[in-house]
Amino acid sequence: MDIESLPLRDDLVGEEPYGAPQIVVPTVLNVNENPYPPSEAVAREMAEAVVAAATTLNRYPDREATALRQDLAAYLGHGLSVDNIWVANGSNEIMLHLLTAFGGPGRTVLTFAPTYSMYPEYARNTLTKFVAYPRREDFSVDAGLVLGAIDIHEPTVILLARPNNPTGTGIPLEAIDQICRQTEAIVVVDEAYQEFSAEPSAISLLDQHPRLVVSRTMSKAFALAGGRVGYMAADPAIVDACRIVRLPYHLSAQTQAVARVALRHADELLAKVAELAAEARAFEDWARGRGYDVVPSQANFSLFGRFRDRHAVWQGLLDRGVLIRETGPDGYLRASAGTPEEMQALKDALDDMNPEKE
Ligand code: PMP
Repeated sequence: MDIESLPLRDDLVGEEPYGAPQIVVPTVLNVNENPYPPSEAVAREMAEAVVAAATTLNRYPDREATALRQDLAAYLGHGLSVDNIWVANGSNEIMLHLLTAFGGPGRTVLTFAPTYSMYPEYARNTLTKFVAYPRREDFSVDAGLVLGAIDIHEPTVILLARPNNPTGTGIPLEAIDQICRQTEAIVVVDEAYQEFSAEPSAISLLDQHPRLVVSRTMSKAFALAGGRVGYMAADPAIVDACRIVRLPYHLSAQTQAVARVALRHADELLAKVAELAAEARAFEDWARGRGYDVVPSQANFSLFGRFRDRHAVWQGLLDRGVLIRETGPDGYLRASAGTPEEMQALKDALDDMNPEKE
């Protein structure tokens, strides 16, 4: 049977599943993961926690993930409590809950392109109209740009990635404050890469803005991409809205157990954050020195180009055992920060190819 013969929703016909190629090569720098696995000791403690959880797997897990949400509130500080926190299978699922609750037919979600390529998919899946308003020429956004776009498109939800993926561009806290002051929309600040940035988190603004949501993930800085844990901080009413649309028992007992161990060892798991940010900045300096155009980044990845044929460069790097990401504005490629050895492999492969620039 082929998919065309099925009564698939019209808007899904011809769509491909989202995802970067998962290819086994020596140097994987394509999905902004943390290259450092948990230590043997932490891995062992996670395994023990899973064994303990396994003794009760005949029962459903805690539907409210209360203990994990308490741990996340304690980790974030700022006087947040369990009622301010929601948690799901990656921040992707957090966003899906938010758009299921606050988007839907007849409603608009507004974001600023180029940005994270899953945003249109959350909108599509929740039947929400998706508007990607262009960023400034340097990929920045400011309050004037956002408020102007709000006037035109009247969204119920605004998605602002801070730092942005794939450009790494930040948004000043004052701009978030000003936007929240002047809109009734739910403003979701996606801080998937916040730990790598020197800018303060928008969590400090939650007190003043009940419709502000700050989304976070354990996939990047926390080195827990395989654990699938994303979370958000917001007013308890927004958490309650997400609780209405989540599937019951959405977060498995194993996931909750592993995430709690990770939070107990936050210091160790986050230990490489500064080093990874420094690796990305050092790569950017190197790339500028080689004549590449580099977008200033506050995250653990770098967007650089501009290549006359970026696909050929991506393929050439892959042929040399280095996998990066073909994404973002025309002519650019994105590389995640890796270990010093991985960054050297990337630089060597680029030098070996000496690709044509625009
Ligand atoms: N937001 C942004 C901006 C991202 O880049 C990513 C991961 N690429 C996510 C959210 C989702 O991450 P996860 O579902 O692993 O938490």
